[in-house]
Amino acid sequence: MQGFILKLTKSIKEDMIVKILTTKHYYTLYRFYGARHNILYTGRKIDFEIEHQGIHLPKLRNIMHLARNYEKQLERVYVWQQFCNLLDRHLQDTKEIDQFYYNLLNQHSKILEKQNPKRLVSSAYVKLLEFEGRLYHENICFICGNTFQDKVAITQGLLLACLNCVTAPVIMNKKDILDFYETKSLINISDSECTKIYNTILLGL
Ligand SMILES: [Zn+2]
Repeated sequence: MQGFILKLTKSIKEDMIVKILTTKHYYTLYRFYGARHNILYTGRKIDFEIEHQGIHLPKLRNIMHLARNYEKQLERVYVWQQFCNLLDRHLQDTKEIDQFYYNLLNQHSKILEKQNPKRLVSSAYVKLLEFEGRLYHENICFICGNTFQDKVAITQGLLLACLNCVTAPVIMNKKDILDFYETKSLINISDSECTKIYNTILLGL
């Protein structure tokens, strides 16, 4: 089957615990001598098999790297890995999973080679919030309930607050950010604003 590696943890000696997202499951698998295995990197898509072994963690076997073109460009790899780390923390101990998450990674990893990686991750993140019913659509501050003026502050989880309620916020035009939430496109948002949105995303899902 195929999946994305979201997290790697060293176990005893050179063994690794590998967490892999597939269309239906978020697996935690054991790989002997995984640290020597140059395929195993966070964010990569692989083909693999699972060997069950009683009460112990199932074994990860017959791994094949399904390479994407973005992997030759380190900055893209780095941003993609940060997104995968975030997704791992978000899904944590979930075992059965909706296909949405795999599809999101599959589609975005295909176009990562050609797009600004922070824009791509920001767009993917907003799609995820919408899928989970957590995307903010209100014209009022989530803290005090007052109606927004022209500017809004963007906070963790991409919730929107008024400028009175948040001390060190990322501030943007309300119209631009609500358009982004609606269309999932950052076309009207500058690279520096996109970096601010991306940094807010890294605070956690
Ligand atoms: Zn407020």
